[in-house]
This record gives sequence, C-alpha cells and structure tokens, in this order.
Amino acid sequence: MSGQTRASCCPERTCVGCRQRSARDGLLRVVVIEGRCVPDLRGTLPGRGAYVHPTTVCLELAVRRRAFPRALRVQGPLDVGELRRVVGQTAP
Ligand SMILES: [Zn+2]
Repeated sequence: MSGQTRASCCPERTCVGCRQRSARDGLLRVVVIEGRCVPDLRGTLPGRGAYVHPTTVCLELAVRRRAFPRALRVQGPLDVGELRRVVGQTAP
C-alpha cells in the first residue's frame, strides 16, 4: 500500500458497471457468498465488497464485463440472480 491515503472524509466508490464514481450512499454494496453475488442491503456483510448503482443498466454492464469476479477477487462466474431481483425491485 503506497501513494494513497485512506480518505475517510469522502466515501466515494466506483460503480463496477458504468465506472462512475458516486457517493457510497447511492451505490449498492455487493459481496460474494459461496459463488453468489449477494446485495449487502444493510451494509453489514463481511468481506470484500463491490459497488454498483442499483439499476438494471449498471448491473447488466457489470455482469457483461465480468466486473464482479474481478472486483471481488474470486473465480467466476458468479450467480447474480438475487442481485437482479433486488435491483429490479428497487429500480423505478
Ligand atoms: Zn453505475
């Protein structure tokens, strides 16, 4: 770890779908549990997290780019069925 200091003042994260930075509040945290992408709706799940806008567009972009396995440092493919369901419900 060098060069970057932990910026706790401004919690910005990059969406793994559209690659745009957003405030963490506007993003959905995703963790992987036993080969499945699970939405961390309460922000309490342990482990490495990936962030994505809770929209179908960003989710599908991330899936197509295989961004989740890369961001989460796991072997793909990952099951995103639950993510799709949650995002589908949240999105307008
Ligand atoms: Zn996005």
